[in-house]
Amino acid sequence: MIPFSPPKIYQEIIDEVVDTLKSGWITTGPKTKQLEKDLSAYCAVPKTLCVNSATFGMEMILRWFDVKEGDEVILPAYTYCSTANVVVHCGAKPVMVDCLDDFSINLEEVKKKVNSRTKAIIPVDIGGYPCDYDAIKKFIKSKEVKDLFKPEGENQTKLGRPLLMTDAAHSLGALYNGLKSGTQADVSVFSFHAVKNLTTGEGGAIAMNFPEPFEHDSIYQSLNIKSLHGQSKDALAKTGKGAWKYDVVEAGYKGNMTDILASLGLVELKRYDSETIPRRKEIFDQYTKAFENEAWAQLPTYKKEDRESSYHLYLLRIKGITEAQRDQIIQEIFDQEVSVNVHYRPLPLLTQYKNMGYKMENYPVAFNNYSREITLPVYYDLTDDQVETVCMAVKNAVKKIIE
Ligand SMILES: *Cc1c(COP(=O)(O)O)cnc(C)c1O
Repeated sequence: MIPFSPPKIYQEIIDEVVDTLKSGWITTGPKTKQLEKDLSAYCAVPKTLCVNSATFGMEMILRWFDVKEGDEVILPAYTYCSTANVVVHCGAKPVMVDCLDDFSINLEEVKKKVNSRTKAIIPVDIGGYPCDYDAIKKFIKSKEVKDLFKPEGENQTKLGRPLLMTDAAHSLGALYNGLKSGTQADVSVFSFHAVKNLTTGEGGAIAMNFPEPFEHDSIYQSLNIKSLHGQSKDALAKTGKGAWKYDVVEAGYKGNMTDILASLGLVELKRYDSETIPRRKEIFDQYTKAFENEAWAQLPTYKKEDRESSYHLYLLRIKGITEAQRDQIIQEIFDQEVSVNVHYRPLPLLTQYKNMGYKMENYPVAFNNYSREITLPVYYDLTDDQVETVCMAVKNAVKKIIE
Protein backbone atom coordinates (compact mmCIF):
# COMPACT_ATOMS: atom_id res chain seq x y z
CA MET A 1 0.00 0.00 0.00
CA ILE A 2 1.34 3.44 -0.88
CA PRO A 3 0.52 5.60 2.17
CA PHE A 4 -0.81 9.14 1.82
CA SER A 5 1.63 11.12 3.93
CA PRO A 6 3.88 9.20 6.34
CA PRO A 7 6.21 11.26 8.56
CA LYS A 8 9.91 11.20 7.69
CA ILE A 9 11.86 10.05 10.74
CA TYR A 10 15.61 9.60 10.32
CA GLN A 11 18.71 9.33 12.48
CA GLU A 12 19.44 13.05 12.78
CA ILE A 13 15.93 13.69 14.10
CA ILE A 14 16.19 10.78 16.53
CA ASP A 15 19.59 12.05 17.72
CA GLU A 16 18.24 15.56 18.27
CA VAL A 17 15.26 14.25 20.26
CA VAL A 18 17.52 12.00 22.35
CA ASP A 19 19.82 14.95 22.95
CA THR A 20 16.82 16.88 24.30
CA LEU A 21 15.66 13.97 26.45
CA LYS A 22 19.14 13.66 27.98
CA SER A 23 19.59 17.40 28.41
CA GLY A 24 17.31 17.54 31.43
CA TRP A 25 15.13 20.13 29.69
CA ILE A 26 12.13 18.63 27.88
CA THR A 27 9.44 21.33 27.98
CA THR A 28 9.62 24.83 26.46
CA GLY A 29 13.24 25.91 26.60
CA PRO A 30 16.33 26.63 24.52
CA LYS A 31 15.36 24.48 21.52
CA THR A 32 11.91 26.02 21.20
CA LYS A 33 13.47 29.48 21.39
CA GLN A 34 16.03 28.47 18.74
CA LEU A 35 13.29 27.17 16.43
CA GLU A 36 11.47 30.50 16.79
CA LYS A 37 14.63 32.37 15.76
CA ASP A 38 15.25 29.99 12.85
CA LEU A 39 11.65 30.36 11.63
CA SER A 40 11.80 34.16 11.84
CA ALA A 41 15.00 34.14 9.80
CA TYR A 42 13.56 31.62 7.33
CA CYS A 43 10.36 33.58 6.72
CA ALA A 44 12.02 37.00 7.14
CA VAL A 45 9.49 38.15 9.73
CA PRO A 46 10.27 40.17 12.87
CA LYS A 47 9.08 37.62 15.41
CA THR A 48 7.71 34.07 15.71
CA LEU A 49 6.13 32.27 18.65
CA CYS A 50 5.98 28.47 18.64
CA VAL A 51 2.82 26.86 20.04
CA ASN A 52 1.31 23.39 20.36
CA SER A 53 -0.84 23.64 17.19
CA ALA A 54 -1.96 26.01 14.48
CA THR A 55 -5.45 25.81 15.93
CA PHE A 56 -4.30 27.08 19.30
CA GLY A 57 -2.20 29.77 17.62
CA MET A 58 -5.14 31.10 15.62
CA GLU A 59 -7.46 31.05 18.62
CA MET A 60 -4.97 32.87 20.81
CA ILE A 61 -4.46 35.57 18.18
CA LEU A 62 -8.22 36.12 17.90
CA ARG A 63 -8.43 36.41 21.69
CA TRP A 64 -5.42 38.76 21.77
CA PHE A 65 -7.35 40.90 19.27
CA ASP A 66 -10.40 40.80 21.58
CA VAL A 67 -12.65 38.92 19.15
CA LYS A 68 -15.75 37.98 21.12
CA GLU A 69 -19.49 37.51 21.12
CA GLY A 70 -21.27 39.82 18.68
CA ASP A 71 -18.21 39.97 16.38
CA GLU A 72 -17.85 38.44 12.92
CA VAL A 73 -14.85 36.82 11.26
CA ILE A 74 -14.83 36.19 7.50
CA LEU A 75 -13.32 32.94 6.24
CA PRO A 76 -13.69 30.59 3.26
CA ALA A 77 -16.23 27.74 3.34
CA TYR A 78 -13.50 25.68 1.72
CA THR A 79 -11.06 24.96 4.54
CA TYR A 80 -10.35 22.63 7.42
CA CYS A 81 -12.76 22.94 10.37
CA SER A 82 -10.07 24.48 12.56
CA THR A 83 -10.29 27.85 10.75
CA ALA A 84 -13.94 28.25 11.81
CA ASN A 85 -13.84 26.34 15.10
CA VAL A 86 -11.51 28.90 16.65
CA VAL A 87 -13.97 31.68 15.80
CA VAL A 88 -16.76 29.69 17.48
CA HIS A 89 -14.53 29.17 20.55
CA CYS A 90 -14.25 32.95 20.90
CA GLY A 91 -18.04 33.29 20.83
CA ALA A 92 -17.92 35.14 17.50
CA LYS A 93 -19.69 34.26 14.26
CA PRO A 94 -17.81 32.64 11.36
CA VAL A 95 -19.00 34.39 8.19
CA MET A 96 -18.29 32.00 5.35
CA VAL A 97 -17.68 32.98 1.75
CA ASP A 98 -17.28 30.92 -1.38
CA CYS A 99 -13.91 30.13 -2.92
CA LEU A 100 -12.48 30.64 -6.38
CA ASP A 101 -11.73 27.96 -8.92
CA ASP A 102 -8.16 27.79 -7.51
CA PHE A 103 -9.62 26.99 -4.02
CA SER A 104 -8.64 30.36 -2.50
CA ILE A 105 -11.05 32.78 -0.82
CA ASN A 106 -13.22 34.84 -3.20
CA LEU A 107 -12.43 38.47 -2.38
CA GLU A 108 -15.51 39.77 -4.19
CA GLU A 109 -17.64 37.71 -1.79
CA VAL A 110 -15.61 39.02 1.16
CA LYS A 111 -16.39 42.58 0.04
CA LYS A 112 -20.12 41.85 0.25
CA LYS A 113 -19.83 40.51 3.81
CA VAL A 114 -17.70 43.16 5.52
CA ASN A 115 -19.66 45.28 7.98
CA SER A 116 -19.19 47.09 11.29
CA ARG A 117 -19.07 43.77 13.19
CA THR A 118 -16.20 42.36 11.08
CA LYS A 119 -13.13 41.97 13.28
CA ALA A 120 -10.92 39.71 11.17
CA ILE A 121 -10.50 38.03 7.81
CA ILE A 122 -8.82 34.62 7.63
CA PRO A 123 -7.64 33.66 4.13
CA VAL A 124 -6.36 30.08 3.83
CA ASP A 125 -3.42 29.11 1.60
CA ILE A 126 -5.05 25.86 0.48
CA GLY A 127 -2.58 23.19 -0.55
CA GLY A 128 0.22 25.70 0.08
CA TYR A 129 -0.80 28.03 -2.77
CA PRO A 130 -0.87 31.66 -1.57
CA CYS A 131 -4.05 33.72 -1.88
CA ASP A 132 -4.08 37.00 -3.80
CA TYR A 133 -2.57 39.06 -0.99
CA ASP A 134 -2.04 42.30 -2.92
CA ALA A 135 -5.77 42.51 -3.59
CA ILE A 136 -6.77 41.36 -0.09
CA LYS A 137 -4.43 43.87 1.59
CA LYS A 138 -5.56 46.69 -0.66
CA PHE A 139 -9.15 45.99 0.33
CA ILE A 140 -8.63 45.51 4.07
CA LYS A 141 -6.59 48.73 4.27
CA SER A 142 -9.06 50.73 2.19
CA LYS A 143 -10.81 53.80 3.60
CA GLU A 144 -14.16 52.10 3.06
CA VAL A 145 -13.23 49.19 5.35
CA LYS A 146 -11.51 51.40 7.94
CA ASP A 147 -14.59 53.63 8.11
CA LEU A 148 -16.82 50.65 8.84
CA PHE A 149 -14.54 49.29 11.56
CA LYS A 150 -15.66 49.81 15.17
CA PRO A 151 -12.55 49.26 17.29
CA GLU A 152 -12.86 47.90 20.82
CA GLY A 153 -9.85 47.45 23.07
CA GLU A 154 -6.22 48.45 22.69
CA ASN A 155 -5.14 46.27 19.77
CA GLN A 156 -8.18 46.96 17.59
CA THR A 157 -7.74 50.67 18.20
CA LYS A 158 -4.07 50.47 17.26
CA LEU A 159 -4.75 48.57 14.03
CA GLY A 160 -7.79 50.64 13.04
CA ARG A 161 -9.17 47.96 10.72
CA PRO A 162 -10.00 44.24 10.75
CA LEU A 163 -7.10 41.89 11.44
CA LEU A 164 -5.65 39.96 8.50
CA MET A 165 -4.69 36.55 9.88
CA THR A 166 -3.66 33.88 7.37
CA ASP A 167 -4.33 30.23 8.05
CA ALA A 168 -0.91 29.30 6.72
CA ALA A 169 -1.17 25.71 8.00
CA HIS A 170 -0.09 24.48 4.53
CA SER A 171 2.10 27.24 3.22
CA LEU A 172 5.42 27.34 5.08
CA GLY A 173 7.96 28.16 2.38
CA ALA A 174 5.44 29.29 -0.24
CA LEU A 175 6.32 32.50 -2.10
CA TYR A 176 4.30 35.60 -2.93
CA ASN A 177 6.05 38.36 -4.89
CA GLY A 178 9.29 36.59 -4.01
CA LEU A 179 8.61 36.78 -0.26
CA LYS A 180 7.99 33.82 2.01
CA SER A 181 4.63 32.91 3.53
CA GLY A 182 4.40 34.78 6.81
CA THR A 183 5.21 38.16 5.28
CA GLN A 184 1.86 38.91 3.67
CA ALA A 185 -0.67 39.12 6.51
CA ASP A 186 -0.54 40.88 9.89
CA VAL A 187 -0.05 37.44 11.34
CA SER A 188 0.26 33.99 9.74
CA VAL A 189 -0.13 30.71 11.56
CA PHE A 190 1.73 27.57 10.44
CA SER A 191 0.92 23.99 11.38
CA PHE A 192 3.53 21.33 12.12
CA HIS A 193 0.93 18.57 12.48
CA ALA A 194 2.09 15.07 11.47
CA VAL A 195 0.86 15.29 7.86
CA LYS A 196 2.16 18.77 7.09
CA ASN A 197 5.26 19.57 4.98
CA LEU A 198 7.35 20.18 8.09
CA THR A 199 6.24 18.28 11.16
CA THR A 200 7.01 18.25 14.85
CA GLY A 201 4.31 15.59 15.45
CA GLU A 202 1.96 18.25 16.71
CA GLY A 203 2.85 21.91 16.75
CA GLY A 204 2.47 25.28 15.16
CA ALA A 205 3.99 28.72 14.91
CA ILE A 206 2.69 32.27 14.84
CA ALA A 207 4.66 34.43 12.40
CA MET A 208 4.14 38.10 13.21
CA ASN A 209 4.36 40.92 10.75
CA PHE A 210 2.23 43.65 12.28
CA PRO A 211 2.30 47.17 10.89
CA GLU A 212 3.38 50.27 12.83
CA PRO A 213 2.85 51.24 15.64
CA PHE A 214 2.84 47.63 16.91
CA GLU A 215 6.02 46.62 18.67
CA HIS A 216 6.92 43.00 18.00
CA ASP A 217 8.95 42.34 21.15
CA SER A 218 6.06 43.36 23.35
CA ILE A 219 3.47 41.43 21.29
CA TYR A 220 5.72 38.38 21.52
CA GLN A 221 6.01 38.87 25.25
CA SER A 222 2.26 39.12 25.79
CA LEU A 223 1.47 36.15 23.52
CA ASN A 224 4.16 34.09 25.25
CA ILE A 225 2.54 34.82 28.61
CA LYS A 226 -0.96 34.18 27.23
CA SER A 227 0.15 30.78 25.88
CA LEU A 228 1.40 29.68 29.31
CA HIS A 229 -1.25 30.30 31.97
CA GLY A 230 -0.73 34.05 31.99
CA GLN A 231 2.36 33.41 34.08
CA SER A 232 4.81 36.28 34.17
CA LYS A 233 7.86 33.97 34.02
CA ASP A 234 8.13 30.74 32.04
CA ALA A 235 9.76 27.62 33.50
CA LEU A 236 13.13 28.50 32.00
CA ALA A 237 13.15 32.01 33.46
CA LYS A 238 12.26 30.59 36.86
CA THR A 239 15.35 28.37 36.94
CA GLY A 240 17.64 31.33 37.60
CA LYS A 241 19.07 31.58 41.13
CA GLY A 242 16.37 32.86 43.45
CA ALA A 243 14.07 33.55 40.50
CA TRP A 244 11.24 31.36 41.76
CA LYS A 245 8.73 34.11 42.36
CA TYR A 246 6.15 34.52 39.61
CA ASP A 247 2.86 36.26 39.08
CA VAL A 248 -0.18 35.40 36.95
CA VAL A 249 -1.30 38.48 35.09
CA GLU A 250 -4.33 36.99 33.31
CA ALA A 251 -6.23 33.69 33.09
CA GLY A 252 -4.03 32.48 30.25
CA TYR A 253 -4.08 29.31 28.19
CA LYS A 254 -1.83 26.28 27.91
CA GLY A 255 -0.48 26.04 24.40
CA ASN A 256 3.29 26.12 24.56
CA MET A 257 5.53 23.98 22.34
CA THR A 258 7.96 21.60 24.04
CA ASP A 259 11.68 21.21 23.31
CA ILE A 260 11.10 17.55 22.41
CA LEU A 261 8.87 18.68 19.55
CA ALA A 262 11.05 21.64 18.63
CA SER A 263 13.94 19.17 18.10
CA LEU A 264 12.15 17.72 15.07
CA GLY A 265 11.48 21.18 13.68
CA LEU A 266 15.08 22.35 14.06
CA VAL A 267 16.39 19.41 12.04
CA GLU A 268 13.63 19.50 9.40
CA LEU A 269 13.88 23.25 8.81
CA LYS A 270 17.57 22.89 7.86
CA ARG A 271 16.70 20.70 4.87
CA TYR A 272 13.35 22.29 4.07
CA ASP A 273 14.37 24.54 1.16
CA SER A 274 17.21 22.38 -0.11
CA GLU A 275 15.48 18.97 -0.01
CA THR A 276 11.84 18.93 1.11
CA ILE A 277 10.38 21.60 -1.18
CA PRO A 278 12.39 20.62 -4.31
CA ARG A 279 11.40 16.96 -4.00
CA ARG A 280 7.75 17.86 -3.45
CA LYS A 281 7.89 20.13 -6.50
CA GLU A 282 9.33 17.26 -8.58
CA ILE A 283 6.41 15.04 -7.57
CA PHE A 284 3.89 17.80 -8.41
CA ASP A 285 5.53 18.19 -11.83
CA GLN A 286 5.45 14.44 -12.40
CA TYR A 287 1.72 14.32 -11.67
CA THR A 288 1.08 17.28 -13.94
CA LYS A 289 3.06 15.68 -16.75
CA ALA A 290 1.21 12.39 -16.32
CA PHE A 291 -2.27 13.97 -16.41
CA GLU A 292 -1.94 17.05 -18.61
CA ASN A 293 -3.00 15.22 -21.75
CA GLU A 294 -5.99 13.49 -20.16
CA ALA A 295 -9.21 15.20 -21.25
CA TRP A 296 -10.85 14.43 -17.89
CA ALA A 297 -8.14 15.96 -15.73
CA GLN A 298 -8.27 19.44 -14.21
CA LEU A 299 -4.83 20.18 -12.81
CA PRO A 300 -4.10 22.43 -9.83
CA THR A 301 -2.33 25.75 -10.30
CA TYR A 302 0.76 25.82 -8.11
CA LYS A 303 3.03 28.36 -9.77
CA LYS A 304 2.37 31.71 -11.42
CA GLU A 305 4.53 34.80 -12.07
CA ASP A 306 3.81 36.30 -8.65
CA ARG A 307 3.50 33.21 -6.46
CA GLU A 308 4.63 29.66 -5.87
CA SER A 309 3.16 26.93 -3.70
CA SER A 310 4.87 25.14 -0.84
CA TYR A 311 3.74 22.00 -2.70
CA HIS A 312 1.72 20.69 0.20
CA LEU A 313 -1.33 19.12 -1.47
CA TYR A 314 -1.76 18.05 -5.08
CA LEU A 315 -5.45 18.81 -5.62
CA LEU A 316 -6.52 16.92 -8.73
CA ARG A 317 -10.04 17.39 -10.04
CA ILE A 318 -11.93 15.19 -12.49
CA LYS A 319 -14.03 17.12 -14.99
CA GLY A 320 -17.78 16.65 -15.09
CA ILE A 321 -18.20 13.98 -12.42
CA THR A 322 -20.62 13.80 -9.51
CA GLU A 323 -19.65 13.44 -5.86
CA ALA A 324 -20.77 9.80 -5.97
CA GLN A 325 -18.54 9.09 -8.98
CA ARG A 326 -15.62 10.75 -7.21
CA ASP A 327 -16.19 8.49 -4.22
CA GLN A 328 -16.25 5.44 -6.52
CA ILE A 329 -13.02 6.52 -8.20
CA ILE A 330 -11.39 6.85 -4.78
CA GLN A 331 -12.55 3.33 -3.90
CA GLU A 332 -11.04 2.02 -7.14
CA ILE A 333 -7.75 3.78 -6.37
CA PHE A 334 -7.62 2.26 -2.88
CA ASP A 335 -8.33 -1.15 -4.42
CA GLN A 336 -5.05 -0.70 -6.30
CA GLU A 337 -3.19 -0.22 -3.01
CA VAL A 338 -2.80 3.56 -3.29
CA SER A 339 -3.96 5.95 -0.55
CA VAL A 340 -5.55 9.21 -1.60
CA ASN A 341 -7.61 11.78 0.28
CA VAL A 342 -10.08 14.62 -0.14
CA HIS A 343 -9.26 18.18 1.00
CA TYR A 344 -11.75 19.26 2.21
CA ARG A 345 -15.38 18.60 2.91
CA PRO A 346 -16.55 22.23 2.87
CA LEU A 347 -17.68 23.44 6.30
CA PRO A 348 -21.43 23.68 5.46
CA LEU A 349 -21.44 19.89 4.90
CA LEU A 350 -20.29 19.21 8.47
CA THR A 351 -22.90 18.55 11.15
CA GLN A 352 -21.68 21.34 13.43
CA TYR A 353 -21.97 24.02 10.75
CA LYS A 354 -25.09 22.56 9.16
CA ASN A 355 -26.70 22.78 12.61
CA MET A 356 -25.62 26.40 12.85
CA GLY A 357 -27.61 27.12 9.68
CA TYR A 358 -24.92 27.25 6.98
CA LYS A 359 -26.22 25.90 3.65
CA MET A 360 -24.02 24.23 1.07
CA GLU A 361 -26.04 25.68 -1.82
CA ASN A 362 -24.78 29.14 -0.87
CA TYR A 363 -21.22 28.07 -1.75
CA PRO A 364 -21.53 26.53 -5.22
CA VAL A 365 -17.86 26.78 -6.21
CA ALA A 366 -16.73 25.18 -2.95
CA PHE A 367 -19.13 22.30 -3.48
CA ASN A 368 -18.17 21.88 -7.12
CA ASN A 369 -14.45 21.84 -6.27
CA TYR A 370 -14.97 19.41 -3.41
CA SER A 371 -17.23 17.00 -5.30
CA ARG A 372 -14.62 16.44 -8.03
CA GLU A 373 -11.47 16.59 -5.93
CA ILE A 374 -8.94 13.85 -5.13
CA THR A 375 -5.69 14.63 -3.30
CA LEU A 376 -2.72 12.52 -4.38
CA PRO A 377 0.11 11.39 -2.09
CA VAL A 378 3.11 13.74 -1.93
CA TYR A 379 6.03 13.18 0.44
CA TYR A 380 9.80 13.28 0.31
CA ASP A 381 10.34 9.51 0.27
CA LEU A 382 7.74 8.80 -2.42
CA THR A 383 9.84 7.30 -5.23
CA ASP A 384 9.49 7.98 -8.95
CA ASP A 385 8.25 4.39 -9.38
CA GLN A 386 5.59 4.94 -6.74
CA VAL A 387 4.51 8.17 -8.43
CA GLU A 388 4.12 6.09 -11.59
CA THR A 389 2.00 3.58 -9.66
CA VAL A 390 -0.21 6.35 -8.32
CA CYS A 391 -0.71 7.79 -11.81
CA MET A 392 -1.65 4.38 -13.25
CA ALA A 393 -4.05 3.71 -10.38
CA VAL A 394 -5.77 7.06 -10.90
CA LYS A 395 -6.01 6.61 -14.68
CA ASN A 396 -7.39 3.06 -14.36
CA ALA A 397 -9.91 4.14 -11.76
CA VAL A 398 -11.15 7.14 -13.73
CA LYS A 399 -11.48 5.09 -16.92
CA LYS A 400 -13.41 2.39 -15.11
CA ILE A 401 -15.92 4.83 -13.61
CA ILE A 402 -16.46 7.41 -16.33
CA GLU A 403 -15.90 5.52 -19.59
C1 LIG B 1 -3.88 21.18 9.66
C2 LIG B 1 -4.68 22.40 9.45
C3 LIG B 1 -5.03 23.23 10.52
C4 LIG B 1 -4.82 22.84 11.95
O1 LIG B 1 -3.50 22.65 12.28
P1 LIG B 1 -3.18 22.03 13.73
O2 LIG B 1 -1.73 22.30 13.89
O3 LIG B 1 -3.49 20.57 13.64
O4 LIG B 1 -4.01 22.72 14.71
C5 LIG B 1 -5.70 24.40 10.26
N1 LIG B 1 -6.04 24.76 9.01
C6 LIG B 1 -5.74 23.98 7.96
C7 LIG B 1 -6.11 24.46 6.59
C8 LIG B 1 -5.07 22.76 8.14
O5 LIG B 1 -4.82 21.97 7.12
